[in-house]
Amino acid sequence: MALVEVKQITKKFGAYSAISNVSLTAQDGKFLILLGPSGCGKTTLLRMIAGLELPTYGDIVIGGKVATRLHPKDRNIAMVFQNYALYPHLTIYENVAFPLRVRGFSGDIDKKVKWATSLVGIEHLLERKPRQMSGGERQRTALARSLVRDPSVFLLDEPLSNLDAKLRHSAREELRQFQERIGVTSIYVTHDQVEAMGLGDRICVMQGGVVRQLGTPEEIYLNPADTFVASFIGSPPMNLISDEGRTIGFRPEMFLPESAFDPSEALYRTEFTVQRIEYLGGDRILYGMVGASLPSSKAIARLPATIGTLPEVGTTAKFAMRLSDIRYFDGEGKAVEQ
Ligand code: ATP
Repeated sequence: MALVEVKQITKKFGAYSAISNVSLTAQDGKFLILLGPSGCGKTTLLRMIAGLELPTYGDIVIGGKVATRLHPKDRNIAMVFQNYALYPHLTIYENVAFPLRVRGFSGDIDKKVKWATSLVGIEHLLERKPRQMSGGERQRTALARSLVRDPSVFLLDEPLSNLDAKLRHSAREELRQFQERIGVTSIYVTHDQVEAMGLGDRICVMQGGVVRQLGTPEEIYLNPADTFVASFIGSPPMNLISDEGRTIGFRPEMFLPESAFDPSEALYRTEFTVQRIEYLGGDRILYGMVGASLPSSKAIARLPATIGTLPEVGTTAKFAMRLSDIRYFDGEGKAVEQ
């Protein structure tokens, strides 16, 4: 069942189209990521789903009902922002109770607040003010505050971007587990592809106001729809080499010294001149030039530490990749079969 449907949405600011004819669905209980570089239109799309922005054309359908012109409070949607938008002068308890008080909730507010705060593990911090909380605890407060209203959809706009790298990683894990536990349909905006890969059931890759690809993290990583997706996902990105009007692509970790493969495998062999080596602990990143069977071009190889001998900087070595790991793109950059 699709809970949120975006139908042929265009959003213009004056003459400028921030979103051009975008259609997608967020499935019930699943985590959908809107991923793309700065300015691609992710936040604008999220704000239209929330009802904070009106589309120029197209419709937003929530739970089977057209919601395009519904007021945000009538959409049963909760939005968690980057800065969490907590009230600094209110306690955590009052911050979480706030949406119920403004709606004149007639039930047991105390019970609701305790339920939501214990779900996110901050029930022992209710008397504190936001400034007495860590970044992660503030994030959980913002989640609890969205939860008290029993939303059917969660919209999250880069909610982890204010956290340091370590906390960000654990907060991501927590968010994912939490989402699975409560099973609320979630749409999450980020420009961080690692975060997108780790969180999403499906990822919608956007650029310049259009959808480039919508698929599972595996689909997007292994079979990018075009060269934009191929180079946006993966760090380092997919190697792309223009060859007679088309482009061939291969992931750095699939490009290894020939000796790492079984000789019976169907391989594509080429020479690789190593110019620089970067040590990352478990992996080594080799920057260099391919040549011989391929047009001379820059390429990157990612070798696990388990591959013992490394070619030295300045030397040319025999490298290879499995034929089945090569991807092909046409002159316009669209993925094609070989
Ligand atoms: P970021 O990751 O930087 O937040 P984004 O992908 O979320 O970027 P949007 O905020 O959706 O991008 O903006 C998309 C485009 O629309 C940008 O070029 C932006 O300048 C433009 N834009 C957004 N809001 C407005 C507005 N109210 N008026 C005019 N242009 C706008």
